[in-house]
Amino acid sequence: MKRNRKVKILATLGPASSDEQMIQKLHEAGADLFRINMSHASHDVMRTLVQRIRAVEARCGRPIGILGDLQGPKLRVGKFAEGKVDLKVGQTFTLDNNDVPGDNTRVYLPHPEILEAVKPGHRLLIDDGKLHLKAEKTDGKSIVTTVVAGTKISDRKGVSLPDTLLAVGVLTDKDRADLDAVLATGEFDWVALSFVQRPEDLAEVRKIARGRVGLMSKIEKPQALDRIDEIIELSDALMVARGDLGVEMPLESVPGLQKQLTRACRRAGKPVVVATQMLESMISAPVPTRAEVSDVATAVFEGADAVMLSAESASGEYPVEAVSTMASIASNVERDPHYSSIIYAQRTPPEATGADAISLAAHQIAETLRLSAIVCYTSSGTTGLRAARERPQVPIIALSPIVQTARRLSVVWGLHCVVTEDATDLDDMVNRACRIVASEGFGKPGERIIISAGVPLGTPGATNMLRIAYIGSDGMSGV
Ligand code: PGA
Ligand code: MN
Repeated sequence: MKRNRKVKILATLGPASSDEQMIQKLHEAGADLFRINMSHASHDVMRTLVQRIRAVEARCGRPIGILGDLQGPKLRVGKFAEGKVDLKVGQTFTLDNNDVPGDNTRVYLPHPEILEAVKPGHRLLIDDGKLHLKAEKTDGKSIVTTVVAGTKISDRKGVSLPDTLLAVGVLTDKDRADLDAVLATGEFDWVALSFVQRPEDLAEVRKIARGRVGLMSKIEKPQALDRIDEIIELSDALMVARGDLGVEMPLESVPGLQKQLTRACRRAGKPVVVATQMLESMISAPVPTRAEVSDVATAVFEGADAVMLSAESASGEYPVEAVSTMASIASNVERDPHYSSIIYAQRTPPEATGADAISLAAHQIAETLRLSAIVCYTSSGTTGLRAARERPQVPIIALSPIVQTARRLSVVWGLHCVVTEDATDLDDMVNRACRIVASEGFGKPGERIIISAGVPLGTPGATNMLRIAYIGSDGMSGV
C-alpha cells in the first residue's frame, strides 16, 4: 500500500474504532499508526487493541506503529456533596487536604504535593480553564483562593497550574502500572509522556523503558518550554499537545509555539506530532469546518511529521471520514505549488556526520537527476531519520531488517518503510533496492534510484556510500 503523501496520520483508537474491521478501515483510509490512550483504556482493552492492530498489519503487509499514551500527573479536585456547586466571581474558595465532600466554600484536593507547591498569586485553572481561581493564602495544607472568572465546579474536574513548577515526577502510580503493562506486550513502538516538565522526567522513564519503545514527550506545560532544547535532546519525538497547552498558556500563543516546536524538532531530526482538535467538529459531522481544514493544512505546510486525531477517531460518529479527510487535506497541500518552497525555506544545514552528508548528497543527486526514489538501508532507524530531516520531494524508501525499526519509523515524515533482510553483498544490495522500489510502486523499469548504505553491510551507524542504479526490465538492477 503506497500513500500519496509525506505527512503521517496518527489515529487514536477508542469505543468508535475498536473492532478489527474498523481498525483495518482506518488504516486503509490513511492511518499510519495508532494511539491507545491509557487514560481511558483498561489493560485488557489495551491488549485486545494491540492484537487487532497486529492482525491488520499482517493482513495489509505494511508496518504499523503503536503508541501508548500515559495519562501523567493530571490533577483533579475531589467530589462535592451535591455533585456540583455554583460560585460567584470575587468570592473566596478553598482547596484543602480534608477528604470529605465539598460545598460552595471548599473542596478536597487529593494531591498533598500541590497544596505545598502553590504560592500566593498563582493561577488555578479548573475544567479546561472554565473556572479561574487565584491563590491568596497558602499554608501547605490548604489554598485559599478568590474566584476570578467562571462560576461552576463539579466532581473530579481537572486542575491546571500554569504558574507552579510541580515537585511531582512525570509518572504517577497508575502510569507505572500502565507502562509495565504496555512494555510487557512487547508490541508498542512509542510511549507518550504527558505533562513533561523537566529533562529529568525523560531520564526516569528511559531507565524503565530500556530502549524497548521510543519516548514521545507531550509538550503541554509552560515549564517544559523553559528547557525545551534539553527535553528535545532526551526525547525520541515530541507531541505538540495543544489541548492542555492551550489551557496552561494563552490560547493565542499556541500557533506560534506550534511553529517553534515543529522547527526545533526538525532541526534536531526528531519526529513531531501536532495534536488535538484538528478536525474536532467531525466528532459529530461528516465534513470539517473551513478553519479545521486550514489548521491541518498549516501543520502540513510546516513540515510536521504527523497529524493526530483524538476523539474524532476514538469516539466520534465519523472515524473513517475523519482519517480520509485528513489524508486528502495532506495530499492536496503537498501538491500545492508553494509547498516545496515553504518546506525548503525551513531547511537547516546538515550536521557534520556521515549520515547527514550522505542524506544531503542523496537529496541533491535525486533532484538533479530526477530519480524515482531515495533508498536507505537503516537498521537502527537513524539513517531513515536523517534522510527525512532533509525533507526531499523524492520518495524515501527505508529498508530495515528489523520490524520494530520499520514500525517506529511509521511516524516519520516521508518514510515508506519496508522490512527486508540485510543485503548479503553489494549486488544484492542494489538488486534488492531496485526490486522493492518497483514492487512497492515507486519506480518502473528504466528509471533510476539512489541508494545509501553502510559498507561493510549490516554495520549499524556506518552509512558511508551512495550508489545510483537503474531499475532493470525484470525490476532488478540494470547496471
Ligand atoms: P490528551 O493530550 O488528549 O491526552 O490530553 C493531548 C493534548 O493535551 O493536547
Ligand atoms: Mn493533554
